[in-house]
Order: sequence, then C-alpha cells, then structure tokens
Amino acid sequence: MRCVVALVQHETNTFSPLPTPLSAFAGGSGRTTPPKGDEAVDQYGSAAFAFAAMLDAAKARGAEVSVSVPIAAYAEPSGRVTDAAFDAITTAVCNDIATGCDAVLLDLHGAMVTETFDDGEGELLNRIRQVDAKVPIGVALDFHTNLTRDMAANATVIDGYRTYPHVDMYQTGERVARSLFRIMDESLPTRTCWQTLPMLTHMIRQTPARQPMKDIMDLAIAAADSDRVMNASVFGGFPLADVPCAALGVLIIEPEDGNQGEDLVNDLCRMAWQRRADFIFEPEDLARSVERAAGLTDYPIVLADHGDNCGAGGSADDLTVLEDMLRQGLANIAAGPVWDPEAVGQMVKVGEGASIKLRVGGKTVVPSIGQTGHGLQLEGVVAKITDGRFAITGPMQTGLVVDLGRTAVLKTPVLELVVSEERWEPYDTGCFTHAGIDPTLKNYILLKSRQHFRAGFEDLARHIILAAGPGVCGSDYSQFKFSNLTRPVYPIDPGTPTPRQVCRIEHSG
Ligand SMILES: [Zn+2]
Repeated sequence: MRCVVALVQHETNTFSPLPTPLSAFAGGSGRTTPPKGDEAVDQYGSAAFAFAAMLDAAKARGAEVSVSVPIAAYAEPSGRVTDAAFDAITTAVCNDIATGCDAVLLDLHGAMVTETFDDGEGELLNRIRQVDAKVPIGVALDFHTNLTRDMAANATVIDGYRTYPHVDMYQTGERVARSLFRIMDESLPTRTCWQTLPMLTHMIRQTPARQPMKDIMDLAIAAADSDRVMNASVFGGFPLADVPCAALGVLIIEPEDGNQGEDLVNDLCRMAWQRRADFIFEPEDLARSVERAAGLTDYPIVLADHGDNCGAGGSADDLTVLEDMLRQGLANIAAGPVWDPEAVGQMVKVGEGASIKLRVGGKTVVPSIGQTGHGLQLEGVVAKITDGRFAITGPMQTGLVVDLGRTAVLKTPVLELVVSEERWEPYDTGCFTHAGIDPTLKNYILLKSRQHFRAGFEDLARHIILAAGPGVCGSDYSQFKFSNLTRPVYPIDPGTPTPRQVCRIEHSG
C-alpha cells in the first residue's frame, strides 16, 4: 500500500499587502523552496501537527505501507498566494499521486486564496481528482476554514481543529486517518452533510473554549465521540478574506446507512444562527485599554495587539500600541517579535553591547485600509543577537523549531524589544527566553496576537488586555472594502435572512 502525505498551509488575508511567493512556504532554515521527503519529515513530522499524526497513522499500518511526502509547504498568513507558488505546490502533490497510490492524507488550512482561485484548497482537491478520481482522500482543516463545495465533494473525510488556540492539530490528524483507513478497510460508503451560514463572525468571539461557540462545538464533539456520526466539524470561518466563501461552516461524515448527519448539521447551524449577535466583538478604544493596564498592580499583564497580528496576515511592524504604552508611562515592558529586517541589520552591524539610535517598525504600507505604517524612533543598547531559532515547548505546535531569522533585542530603560527578520505570531515564550528575556519578570508583555498567545502566555499572565492597534486583522469591519463576499451576510447586512438548507454528498467508499 502506498500512502501520500502532504502539508499545504496558508491562511490568506486578502487585505494584506504582503506577497506570498513559493519562498514564503520554505519554512526557514535557509531554504528557498518548501521541503519534501525526509527533510519535510524532519521539520514537521515530530511536531504537534496533523501532518505528523497522519505519518504516524500510516506507518502504524505496518511494514507493507510505503509513505511518500511530496511537499510540506507552510507559510505565515499574508496576501494572496502567487499563481506560480500555487502551481508548484499542487504540481508536486498531483505528480506524486499520479504515480499511483492507495490513500492520500492532507494537512491543509482551508482559507487559502490565490491570485486566480478564491478557494485554494478546493482547487488543489479538484486537480488531485483530475489525476485520480477514486483514491480515498483524508483532509485535516484549520478551525478557520471557509468551507466550500469543492472541499466537501472531493475529500472522502474532512475533520477540523476543535480548539482556538489550535492545540489539537495532532489529534485532528489522528481522527482523519482513523476514519479514512476505516472507510478503506470496510469499503464503507459514506455521506457528507454540510452547510455554511452567511455569518462573518469576529475571531475574538469564536473560540470553542468559551460561549457562544462552546455549546456548538461541544455538541459536535459529543456526536462524534458517541459514534452517532464518524466526524463532526464546526468551522469558525476566516472573515479577513474578501471571497464569496467566507462563512461559518459545519460538516459531518457518517456511514451511508446512518441517519443522523443531516439533523446534526441542522441543530448545529440553528444554534450558531440563533447566537449570531454574540459572535460580534466591539473593540475598546486603544488609549482606554492601555489606561486600564496602567491601573493594574499585579504582574505580568499581557497586552494583545490584535489588529496587526501576523498570525492572521498582519505585518507585525506597527508600533502604535507600544507608543501609547510609552506615552502613558508604562515600564518594565517586554515586546515582540516586531518584524523589521532593516532594524535587525542595523543592530547586528553595531553588535551586542553597543548603543544605537534607530527607527523600528512602521515600514509596511497597507493600501487596502489606507494605513501608512507607524514606527518608533528608539534609543538603547543592543542587548542580544540570536539566530532566532528555538523549539516550541508550549502546547501549540509543540516541538516545532521556529526560525525567526536573525533576531536582536533592543534594551531601553523601560523596554526590551525583540526585533526579527521573519514574522511569527508569539504563541510560545521561546521568542523571549531564547533571547535572554524572562517574561515572568516583566510588568507588561506586549504581543502581536489575537488568541494563539494564550497557548504560551495565559498561564503566566495575571491579566490579559486586548489592545486594538491598527492593521489588517482588526475587528472593525467597516475599515474593509468587501466587494466579493456572498451577500447578504451578517453582521454587515443586519437583516440577512435565515440561511439555506443542508447539502448532501454521497461517497462510494
Ligand atoms: Zn486558525
């Protein structure tokens, strides 16, 4: 038995000005193209990814199984993927499948948008079906998937993360592989029932650990765990994409002789729709957020700058929030990583221990929201220079070696600022500790993140304050010019009518 396992992950923020060429998928380590084969397994096969679980599940079927990894292409969120990159990635996957295989396991995101295709994953699956119409395909998807017909129709099995921060990637891969191999072993015909809702939820209100999503996700998990259905997924959707398919979605896989899937989709969708107003987040005025932080006295206090979060396509180089913290007199601050290769180069040039005056951040212009970039003139000492590499020890993507590129710490009397050559959303304390900063000793920790920071920082924070800095990840949808969304959509169109019916697709098994 030959099994093809691949990882293709990109969450595309169509408002982001940052390009996404093939080199963005290289995964650091000095490469310019994505790894494949042993190199891909070395990089992602021992970390907490769905990809790793898929590899483990395939190998667990015994020595007669050969596993092929044509590509592991993972990029930080940014703007539309170039056609050249998308073609290179899909060609690598399709050419491997075309040589003949018995099963395909894919670790995908579900919100990839390319220059040509609004539904990157759907198009990838279409292309795979053109080279092999029958091979069983199991797909793991991110919780922020914008679900589409091409995904549901072409994949034999789909399952999504149940957490946000995403600390169950590996378990999601296990569920996908388990169902796919069961379907193959039992020649089991199945049915996919799914529906999307015309809701553009706010990501801060999506997390399944809290309401309004908790009851919805708990019902899906209970159904899957009780064997009423094989797989049950709820997708919060990715709203920062001006594409027709941006929506909350629900998808169930059940045996063809089951009769629970459609009712379950209806129940889950009814709950989500009834709660649609609870998925709206009202951002607080930034100065007021900083003022609240300044009024607290037990530390550390985490400030999450969620408007410029590179984990959703931000440039991670706008320093508006930091400027306000300094203006209001906050001290003993750790902040970062701020993306500024030019500033890193300046600090590396003068070296550790040297004093320096320089401009940091604010180098990205964002035409989609009329943002010119906001940096800061700072003066301090280069406290540390590192290669930016550390292994994640926290619960999200545990074991992955992060590569921030060359990284430097600028130290001022009130601030230690981590500046890096690559963008990375801080969901592990390693971004500070590898550079000699102990975040537990700080009064304030400024992170460019919306939700994932909780994986590494929630336990050490005495308070968490959401700070609405400017950027392409903001929760104020009025700043975005949506022109391709399927309309009407709630809450942009408050009178959006109750949504359409459940879709059903039969798979022959
Ligand atoms: Zn996600």
